[in-house]
Amino acid sequence: MIDVVVVGAGPAGSTAARLLSESGREVLILEKRRFPRPKLCAGGVTHKVIPLLPPGFENVKLCSHSKAYIYYPDKGMAHVEVEANGPLVHMVERMDFDHYLLKASLEAGASLLENRNVRSVYPWGESMQVTASNGETFYARYVVAADGCNSVIRNQVSRYRPRVFSLETTLKVNEELDHVVLDFGWIPKGYGWIFPKNGRASVGIGMLDYSPEIMRFYNDFLERHDLPHVRPRGYFLPMYSLENNFSRGKILFVGDAAHLVDPVTGEGIYYAIKSGSLAAKALNDLNDGKAGQRYNILLKKTIVPELRRAFFLSKMIYTFPTISLNAFRINPDIGKTYADIISGKSTHKDLLGPSILGAWKILKTIAH
Ligand SMILES: Cc1cc2nc3c(=O)[nH]c(=O)nc-3n(C[C@H](O)[C@H](O)[C@H](O)COP(=O)(O)OP(=O)(O)OC[C@H]3O[C@@H](n4cnc5c(N)ncnc54)[C@H](O)[C@@H]3O)c2cc1C
Repeated sequence: MIDVVVVGAGPAGSTAARLLSESGREVLILEKRRFPRPKLCAGGVTHKVIPLLPPGFENVKLCSHSKAYIYYPDKGMAHVEVEANGPLVHMVERMDFDHYLLKASLEAGASLLENRNVRSVYPWGESMQVTASNGETFYARYVVAADGCNSVIRNQVSRYRPRVFSLETTLKVNEELDHVVLDFGWIPKGYGWIFPKNGRASVGIGMLDYSPEIMRFYNDFLERHDLPHVRPRGYFLPMYSLENNFSRGKILFVGDAAHLVDPVTGEGIYYAIKSGSLAAKALNDLNDGKAGQRYNILLKKTIVPELRRAFFLSKMIYTFPTISLNAFRINPDIGKTYADIISGKSTHKDLLGPSILGAWKILKTIAH
């Protein structure tokens, strides 16, 4: 019997597979597509991801940015410029980045079967039975569910899906563009982004509540930033939303399948890779049946408190966009701390304090 079947070879699955293989586990990755495959994503890898990556990132990195312009709802294009002391975000093409992560897991000893669309995962005695749409079945001690935002395995255990609809495209832009753009408050309960990559940029918007007018908001956003119209593609972002259960029996959910996306910035790659590495850590003992509990505890000690604070911050920003973004303008230290949060030098705790009440304290100070 296989030790661990990993379903999905995105950043979360490949990371879990690599670390498990490195510690001597027998790992099989089942992936629906054939790699390298495209993935709709702006491709912004924040600096805090770097220590979690296998060697070779330099070969897939396109460029890095240390500046972010944060816009707030103002027709005059008022914005705050935030500059970090080092790189904030590195830009990649997801097709190449995901392929590099997958190759690292195969080099570490994991096996891979592509074109395997997993349909179900059920307990089978002491083990787990994984069935693909072609009827093949696999048996494993544990399953890591890394099958992304539309996770079939997640659907088996819960219908709860906190998702943000997003539209995105790639455009030609000025080669000199040296900063990322985050634009809050202009789009109702949503935000827009521009991530330049050497003369091109990933440009998109996300909305917390889907609106049939989303295409109009997207066109408005392009016009607002003087960008040419290019037809976008749509996909979902599974934002973190006070979720508390990341495992079910012998299934561990990681990355988008666990809804681990920062609700302020839409950042998911860091959380995918971090949760993949925590799942691998929790699976160090396959025989005591307690890996799921260990994984929940590890998440709650590390990324969940940060995502909870980001959740409350997002509520604040989307409910009172002008006031909250004025905070960045009035107090430059807030912008500096936020840049440090993105790059990994600070945490939301440094910005909001130990309790979420910190967010409301900031609001009250600005409102008065
Ligand atoms: C428009 C957009 C822009 C984004 N921009 C950024 C950004 O700039 N920075 C950032 O950090 N995050 C960004 N994100 C979020 C980021 O893309 C995700 O959080 C990240 O890809 C999650 O990784 P994952 O491994 O969990 O899932 P995925 O990368 O989605 O990988 C899941 C894998 O599972 C496979 N799979 C799915 N179903 C099955 C099945 N039934 N059987 C077998 N295999 C299956 C898929 O083919 C895929 O390879 C963006 C998302 C969107 C939609």
